[in-house]
Amino acid sequence: MAKRDYYEVLGVDKNATDDELKKAFRKLARQYHPDVNPGDKEAEEKFKEVNDAYETLSDPDKRAQYDQFGPDGPTGGFGGFGGGQGFGDMGDIFDMFFGGGFGSAQSQRGPRRGQDLRYDLTIDFEEAVFGTEKTISIPRWETCQTCNGSGAKAGSSPVTCPRCHGTGQEKVMQKTPFGSFQSVKTCPECGGKGTVIKDPCPDCNGQGKKRMTRKLEVKVPAGVDTGSRLRMSGEGEAGEMGGPKGDLYIYINVRAHKIFQRNEDDVYMEQEINFVEAALGADIQVPTLEGDVTLTIPAGVQNGAKFRMKGKGIKNVKGYGKGDQYVTIKVVTPKNLTAEQRELFKKLGETMVVKESNHTTNTFDDDKKKTDMTRGAEKSKDKGFFSKIKDAVEDLWDDDKME
Ligand code: ZN
Ligand code: ZN
Repeated sequence: MAKRDYYEVLGVDKNATDDELKKAFRKLARQYHPDVNPGDKEAEEKFKEVNDAYETLSDPDKRAQYDQFGPDGPTGGFGGFGGGQGFGDMGDIFDMFFGGGFGSAQSQRGPRRGQDLRYDLTIDFEEAVFGTEKTISIPRWETCQTCNGSGAKAGSSPVTCPRCHGTGQEKVMQKTPFGSFQSVKTCPECGGKGTVIKDPCPDCNGQGKKRMTRKLEVKVPAGVDTGSRLRMSGEGEAGEMGGPKGDLYIYINVRAHKIFQRNEDDVYMEQEINFVEAALGADIQVPTLEGDVTLTIPAGVQNGAKFRMKGKGIKNVKGYGKGDQYVTIKVVTPKNLTAEQRELFKKLGETMVVKESNHTTNTFDDDKKKTDMTRGAEKSKDKGFFSKIKDAVEDLWDDDKME
């Protein structure tokens, strides 16, 4: 199911203020709340959607990332990513409307793991096959080294929040369609931390973290494919209140190859041959991932025939052996014959009419009558005759390639 745009979900425009977001969210959350729509699956889905949208857009960092990366970006669309993300935070909503009890506002106070980040890395086909190393730049929040993440200026430390007296919470009376409720919300003064900074660290403006762009070396193992995901532990956002760092996930996207197509660890390609090669059989050079390899085509091969070259595919990313290469033969009919070639084909045609006398073979000769051809034909197994044709056709083949 495709994610709808979060702004669209909340029915606000991209420049909506926090107040507008909050208003829109409350209106919709009330409308779709499971308690108001018991058993209504659609309402439940909408409720989740509204919750997800607000969760992202109400947080300035997440909103900025969303605006930059879209719904599949570092914060969007990944259930189970990051600390306290997603539907697991339903408690907050229940709290907001139906009074506390879940104590989720409390969760703001302890150490929190940093957000996971996503980076989309596009690499070439060969790089995916053989592995590669890439340097990437990751903008992320890091713990401020000057204040060690406290946000307080050197020599000072955060003090107990005067508004909530260190609880990090605030009780508010709230009017809802079901009456007035007392609910607990995060203290707006300290953001739930229970402490405020009187003398902010000049380096991070009291945030305790700084936006940094880091260069990272990514080792891409051989055998990855589009959709492969690499995890770089601890390379995500800084944690809060001494919590651990998040992880960085590298999503691999592989560019298409000119010749090869890939299915799992197998490689597919189409090899053109001329019809003399098809008729007589030939040893042809076929490109593989590890260079050209001779493939023996048996005489009488048909257009569309497939050959398997065992072990010429891609090394499995988990080390389970290697795939194969499949070659589909495409027999090419020559165009723009020279006079000499035409003659040779005519002669060839005459020999073939005997075998397939029920065919109409006027194509080979416009001047002669069909009957002439059937009569004049002679079964010839003369190698020299075929070689002559083969040589002629191969010249033509080269000419075609020059164009
Ligand atoms: Zn600082
Ligand atoms: Zn407070």
